[in-house]
Amino acid sequence: RHTLELAELVGTRRQLLPVRGATPFVSQPGRIHPFRVGRGPAPLHLLPALLGLDHLDWSTRLGMARAGLAAKLGARLWPERLDRLSASAWLRWHGQGRQSRRGLWEPLGLATLNIPLEQASARMFATVLDRSMFAGRRDITALLPEQLLDDVFVRPALEKVRRQGGEILCSQRVVRLQHNGRRLLAVETADGRRHQAEAFVLAAPWYETARLAGQVAALDSLGRQCARLGYSGIVTVDIWYDRCWLEWSFAGLLHSPLQWVFSHPRQRGLPARVSCVISGAERLLAWPSQRLVAECRAELVRHFPAAAAARVVDSLVTRVPLATIRVTPGSYGNRPGPATALENLYLAGDWTATGLPATMEGAVASGVQAARMLDSRPAGRIAHVA
Ligand SMILES: Cc1cc2nc3c(=O)[nH]c(=O)nc-3n(C[C@H](O)[C@H](O)[C@H](O)COP(=O)(O)OP(=O)(O)OC[C@H]3O[C@@H](n4cnc5c(N)ncnc54)[C@H](O)[C@@H]3O)c2cc1C
Repeated sequence: RHTLELAELVGTRRQLLPVRGATPFVSQPGRIHPFRVGRGPAPLHLLPALLGLDHLDWSTRLGMARAGLAAKLGARLWPERLDRLSASAWLRWHGQGRQSRRGLWEPLGLATLNIPLEQASARMFATVLDRSMFAGRRDITALLPEQLLDDVFVRPALEKVRRQGGEILCSQRVVRLQHNGRRLLAVETADGRRHQAEAFVLAAPWYETARLAGQVAALDSLGRQCARLGYSGIVTVDIWYDRCWLEWSFAGLLHSPLQWVFSHPRQRGLPARVSCVISGAERLLAWPSQRLVAECRAELVRHFPAAAAARVVDSLVTRVPLATIRVTPGSYGNRPGPATALENLYLAGDWTATGLPATMEGAVASGVQAARMLDSRPAGRIAHVA
């Protein structure tokens, strides 16, 4: 929701196109399970989706609907209690057997939390179910950007800031915080320049925040909190084929190390590009690229027999070892809110305490939280924020 509001604010909402029809989940060659959302009110909008999960028997599917309702209640009423449990223990507690865990919950959990359900906080998993799957039709509808996310969000946002008199400095790393123990006075960038402001929002990742916090005694405990958040990686394998073989813009894979496969719009005369996303990829980060490409090709052929006839013309492996924090049980307490021990320094980032997993939605929500704090400062309106 926050992400859509941001797109609205920067004037690019129309560039996020709802995916029409069903999202296909593929469990084995030729077995497509269309995940279709109905028009009825929540949770009845999920009836067509339950019908589509025909690799699961009916009692499993009804049990999943019950677990979804339990997630809604738990995420809203007992978030702290849920944060002490792992998502897989919580699912077992709610009668979710191997079929439903392997058939939907595990791939969904890995794709949204970026760690396996045995390691993930039940609170974060329940929040995902509450805020997406078991919320309204609008919240579960997948959106695909018409252009690169940079063009949909970043450039228009920068332009808006500039139009309102703000200054954007790119590729300027903050290396030092200058403070008087109570307030932040200025930040120093790698080029040696000093930037002063009345208030500051630090929106760097948690590991960078830990490094900067280490320079300020008052931010000692923030640094320690950040260090406890850990990290989890994502590997993306792009493969270019001599022909298009994937008939959807994206598909979810079940019983596979890959969670999502995307096909990019093909430009005339150029090879067809398919991107494979592997979340929670700790083990695979160390694999050589050749092995990763071979594994993805084999998985694609296993799920989509048409891929076997296509010739690979190129490939690219992207590894992001520190893609997100690890949302493990008990980790929520280490995620700070926007306020810090320095009275004019605020935090933002997907890793802060937004109530959400580390996602784009969480990142935007954290920005909103920081902006609200700035607005409500007892010291009054601020003219200059950095
Ligand atoms: C491969 C991959 C796939 C993903 N897929 C999805 C997805 O499908 N859906 C989803 O919701 N989320 C996804 N995510 C997660 C999503 O990208 C993040 O949740 C989001 O980008 C976090 O935004 P952020 O602003 O908190 O942090 P970031 O995007 O990390 O931004 C932090 C910024 O701070 C800058 N910075 C760092 N240090 C300094 C410094 N010292 N001085 C100045 N600037 C600094 C960095 O350059 C960076 O621009 C994915 C992430 C990865 C890596």
